[in-house]
Amino acid sequence: MENKDRRTTPHYCINLDATLGIRHNHQESNFPISIIDISFFGARITSAIILPDSSLATLSFKINNKLIVTSVHIELLNIQNKIYYYSIIFYGPEKIDGFNVFLDNLKMKPNRRESQRRHRQDIILAGNKRSLERRHSKPFFLKCMRYNRMDKLIVNNHYFYLREISSGAGNKIIRNGREMLMFGSNNYLGLANHPEVKEAALKAVRKYGVGSGGVRVLSGTIDLHNQLEHTLADLKGGEDCIVYSSGYSTNVGIISSLVTKDDQIIIDAKAHASIVDGCLLSGNQFLVFKHNDMDDLEDVLKSTDQNKNKIIITDGVFSMDGDIAKLDRIYELGNKYSSAVMIDDAHSTGVIGYSGRGTASHFNLEGKIDLTIGTLSKALGGVGGFAVANKRIIHYLKHTSRAFVFSTSLPPAISAAVLKAIEIINTQPELHAQLSTNIKYTITGLKALGLNIGLTESAIIPIILKNEKLVYKLTGILENEGIFVSPVAYPAVRKKESRIRISVMATHTKDDLNFLLDTLGRVSKQLHIT
Ligand code: PMP
Repeated sequence: MENKDRRTTPHYCINLDATLGIRHNHQESNFPISIIDISFFGARITSAIILPDSSLATLSFKINNKLIVTSVHIELLNIQNKIYYYSIIFYGPEKIDGFNVFLDNLKMKPNRRESQRRHRQDIILAGNKRSLERRHSKPFFLKCMRYNRMDKLIVNNHYFYLREISSGAGNKIIRNGREMLMFGSNNYLGLANHPEVKEAALKAVRKYGVGSGGVRVLSGTIDLHNQLEHTLADLKGGEDCIVYSSGYSTNVGIISSLVTKDDQIIIDAKAHASIVDGCLLSGNQFLVFKHNDMDDLEDVLKSTDQNKNKIIITDGVFSMDGDIAKLDRIYELGNKYSSAVMIDDAHSTGVIGYSGRGTASHFNLEGKIDLTIGTLSKALGGVGGFAVANKRIIHYLKHTSRAFVFSTSLPPAISAAVLKAIEIINTQPELHAQLSTNIKYTITGLKALGLNIGLTESAIIPIILKNEKLVYKLTGILENEGIFVSPVAYPAVRKKESRIRISVMATHTKDDLNFLLDTLGRVSKQLHIT
């Protein structure tokens, strides 16, 4: 085939039996269909039954006893006389072995009359397709019907999102009936499935039931919520605490409530999405300083309107890189320029600082940071978020922060579970010590392999590959080897910063870590990463 222009490529009218394999709801089903015309780029098919909605299909047909199999995108064109017409687009037709030769050798010349008829029908069908789209979904939802960002990943077997796990988030998990090593969980201390934590949750369910039945300010405050807030304030060395139903809503709720139009927000370039969203919701413009660059932060502070109140906001441990914010310098600069400081300890709590008390403790600044945010969903093993600050700030937030005021309170079981998790952190320092040992061992091992792991000092360890395809390829190979890691690609990071992210837990054994290191050593050589 010389002519590869979609608009001018001839369509060959044929009647060929074929099979369409469609992956739908994690199951592959085969459907007999008929190809009515074919070109270099795609085909039109008919089916006697409606096919499941999917852009993930495999078309197989035989030509001269040669089996051709290709990944395709399929779209409903029309329904006529109970026959369903679909348009099929081949993914990478040049990759289909023998397909060029088949089309070149196709004895049938493009039948001009038939082609013209089909062309006319195409126009009608395109019109029908639009009206079908309209009928199937209101125009408002067309963006959803047309969303295809993931399709290419799916057909190339590079889709590693929403992977189903049928066990708890331990060092070992069950996926597709197979045991795998988990290196993608934020359950850093293993408390999400600690027997005492589970028991505490069960006891709370027996006593209080499942839901709290109300928002905190009205009917939804139970004794466990108040106990949890006192315990979290103690953990962070602060005066008082407010608990939200997620870490995300904590950042959004606090920033949007505290920042007024006359204030100036200054955030690290790699601050978490929930911080950015909080800034957006505040309706205020925000200034960004270069990631962990204190000279740049100072320049930004100098450039701000000195009459405006300021707040510097940053992650404590950065969620994609695992490096630690220079809180000692941020604290100094905050004092120098009369700026408030807010730190998000989502990945610091349970991980860094004395016995896992977080970023302020890591820098001997406990009780000195204006606002410390955290999540209950990572090392604390549950779900929810919190902020620790002085009493008046917390009082203000409890009555003005819309994400708190208008959202049902944390379930009793989670409140009890997190209380128990904090008790374990306070009384069993060996758990945090084991996590630190595992982090050091893994970081040293990965560095020895020559992998680029950036500046991490925490349980989050990136392997920076700078190549999206390689990220998915490595994730897939590791999955086959029985290791679960997270691919991190655009838009979570910039394309040239694509990476896989490894998360280390206290519950990983030396054998688990060695298996990860050995496998990565072998595979990264195969893929010419090292
Ligand atoms: N802040 C940071 C730094 C995070 O990494 C996350 C979770 N990805 C959150 C906040 C949100 O926490 P949650 O998952 O509990 O909503």
